[in-house]
Amino acid sequence: MKAWWGNLNERRQWMLETIRDEARLCASYTGRPVLSDKVMQVMGEIPRHRFVPASLRCSAYDNCALPVGCGQTISQPFIVALMTDLLDLNGTERVLEVGTGTGYQTAVLSKLCAEVHTVERIAELSLQARERLEELGLSDHVHFHVADGSRGWPQAAPFDGILVTAAAKEVPAPLLEQLAPGGRMVIPVGQAGRTQQLCRVCKHTDGKLDMQALLPVAFVPLISEGGSGS
Ligand code: SAH
Repeated sequence: MKAWWGNLNERRQWMLETIRDEARLCASYTGRPVLSDKVMQVMGEIPRHRFVPASLRCSAYDNCALPVGCGQTISQPFIVALMTDLLDLNGTERVLEVGTGTGYQTAVLSKLCAEVHTVERIAELSLQARERLEELGLSDHVHFHVADGSRGWPQAAPFDGILVTAAAKEVPAPLLEQLAPGGRMVIPVGQAGRTQQLCRVCKHTDGKLDMQALLPVAFVPLISEGGSGS
């Protein structure tokens, strides 16, 4: 019998198939039956098994969210791929990610844009994510910050893309401010335990905002500094 790690490539290819299937199934919500080749290529390259606890490695390429400690989860691969796709990156952008978690989504972003600022409120997770990305040689254009990401990261604003991987009750105003004209934000909106909507916000060049709710999702809550969901 082959050891499970003997066929990682096959498992990753299988994961890509499940992402393609789910993209087709959700197309009436998302308007995106097919995700970009670039995003799918990167999803096929990042070793997701390096981002999950050893005891769950055999499930690393299943299309599901997994617990990763500190009460947090690594997002479902389809959702990571979809959220990345919705940013429409061409490689030149500066992107803010709120909710570093394991750094898996950060790793995907790092291969598709010029610079990533990723903010995590739990120092231990941020440090582990940084070490992982350094080991994988993916940290060159990534800046790790430990802070309340609902305030964004004004020191490096504005951002061409903002990706939030925890659910906010409403889109935090500082994130809208820090989005560059012409930029896109992807963020789950709603309360934990209730139906949340994955939303895409576009800021037009005249500063006008357009927000579309695309797909029901389930994320852990975005915790603002006061300790409550923001
Ligand atoms: N993108 C991650 C999954 C993130 S889970 C991955 O690929 O693994 C959501 C993360 O958001 C958790 O790590 C949680 O600690 C973090 N988080 C919640 N509220 C936050 C806040 N206000 N600022 C920064 N990070 C926050």
